[in-house]
Amino acid sequence: MTIDQINRLVLTVPDFPKKGISFKDITPILENSEAFLSLAKLMAERIHKNTDKLIAIESRGFILGAAVAQHCGCGLVLVRKPGKLPRETVRETYDLEYGTDSLEMHKNALKPGDRVTIIDDVLATGGTAAAVEKLCLRLGAQVLGSVILMEIEALNGRAKLQNPLVSLIAI
Ligand code: AMP
Repeated sequence: MTIDQINRLVLTVPDFPKKGISFKDITPILENSEAFLSLAKLMAERIHKNTDKLIAIESRGFILGAAVAQHCGCGLVLVRKPGKLPRETVRETYDLEYGTDSLEMHKNALKPGDRVTIIDDVLATGGTAAAVEKLCLRLGAQVLGSVILMEIEALNGRAKLQNPLVSLIAI
């Protein structure tokens, strides 16, 4: 399937999780095996060839990241909400389109010099991806960029990022 065909499966849910937010629901892509496989391949094509590890953001980023990692031969590192990872972590607090939150990564998930690419479903304000960049940099990794399914261009989240951003769909 093409990215346009995949995009047509995304459902926009008004006022979720709170008033004023147009939530992009990508679950219909996951429910369609052909669309999910095509999307994983399309995202994998955009991952920098030198990437050692993909950095996946909870929780839809996990689903995309796991599928894409299988296609590009990268390891997968999970970035999670506080208190979910069992071993020693590093933490960053960030602004979200709807509220604030913190994210954690295992301290030994990356080693200095690891080359990483961040993956997620939606880039809105860019606060989440920018926090993940900081986590990676604190562990000494080199961030090659981010690959995001949908970028909400009007919010200019990419301006918060220190490294190149690829979005498959701009809305
Ligand atoms: P932000 O930090 O504002 O760029 O928000 C990005 C994170 O919040 C991503 O992990 C998205 O999954 C989620 N998110 C933010 N806005 C939306 C939206 N309009 N629809 C779906 N997910 C969103």
